[in-house]
Amino acid sequence: MCVNRRNALPYAQILKVKPIVAVIEKILLHPIAMQLVETLQTSGWNESFRPAVIVEIHAGGQVGRGESVAGWTPGYCYETIGTTMHVLSDFIIPALLGKDSEQTAITLRYRGHPLAKAAIDVALWDLRGKLAGKSLASLLDSTRKRVEVGVSIGIHDTIDETLQIIDKRVKEGYRRVKLKIKPGWDVDLLREARRQFPNVRLMADANSAYTMEQLPILKQMDTLGLLMIEQPLGYEDIYQHSKLQPQLETPICLDESIHTPDDARLAIQLGACRIINLKVSRVGGLSNAQKVHDVCFNAGVDLWIGGMLETGIGRAANLHVAALPGVTLPSDISATNRYYDPDITEAFTLNAEDSTITVPTGPGLGVSVHPERLEAAHRAFEETPKTPFLGLAS
Ligand code: MG
Repeated sequence: MCVNRRNALPYAQILKVKPIVAVIEKILLHPIAMQLVETLQTSGWNESFRPAVIVEIHAGGQVGRGESVAGWTPGYCYETIGTTMHVLSDFIIPALLGKDSEQTAITLRYRGHPLAKAAIDVALWDLRGKLAGKSLASLLDSTRKRVEVGVSIGIHDTIDETLQIIDKRVKEGYRRVKLKIKPGWDVDLLREARRQFPNVRLMADANSAYTMEQLPILKQMDTLGLLMIEQPLGYEDIYQHSKLQPQLETPICLDESIHTPDDARLAIQLGACRIINLKVSRVGGLSNAQKVHDVCFNAGVDLWIGGMLETGIGRAANLHVAALPGVTLPSDISATNRYYDPDITEAFTLNAEDSTITVPTGPGLGVSVHPERLEAAHRAFEETPKTPFLGLAS
């Protein structure tokens, strides 16, 4: 349980960082596609072959990198790989060229498109860190050298198969397990997982698959000692969740509904959740992620960092944010071998003794890109038939 920090200073306001400024000379986009080690099935879609756009911002002899995680289709949200390339190439990049690396206001001219903006925002933070010779964790004033992480397990054909995967992940060292659920794939699975793994911190992620009419099912889940139930109701909803939370002992965690610091503030004030899953991409980058963190930190609301199947670039950003003091629960940042083999960056490994991943310490994001792997991933993108996209993700 968090202490109440309502009277604390906004965390971002107590930071003192003297910036080193350079002029943005060039911005490159690398659309890529990579095979996931394991297909992820959720209540709404499958992921097995992921696109991404790697952004490179060149200034002052340094290169800052960020990543857009928009998918092939508008499945997770309205953004796609196509809208990302359009918004970055036609609007944001022309507005940024020739400006200084400290500016942050240009992306605010344009509505929406947080996944595209996040790529630019993270690249600017990476650049600032490299120009200053400081890690992002130190720029953000993050406090941890290692961050506690958990593993997310998708929907599989049978309960037995899922239990075997949980067993494998627990043996690897993960102590918090998240199971994706949907109506018909919920109470029996969770009850059996709870029975067989009584010491694992177990949680469920519904990805908006339920309505208030299914309250009896949610009440059954409420008896299973879950760490939280993530986003049970509507994709954009906060109000209905505020009606549900008082009827459950289990904390509700909001994920998809939280796009801005104001969303976090509203959800907390309405009592719609007791936990927030903060995704750097979904809120438009590190600048907003820091603000959402501050809202939760000052309200004493538990927080963790969610993942979007990022490459090592996006996951490095997630690790730096997960090291902030207001992140109180294990984050969805698994070791690289759960995602890509190989990744375009060096791998992150799990510290099995304490279910943690070590936060990179080098300047900026603290990861480097293997040029030949980036090129191979770009070739895979070029060779992927783009029409129809529906064959690539459902
Ligand atoms: Mg989720």
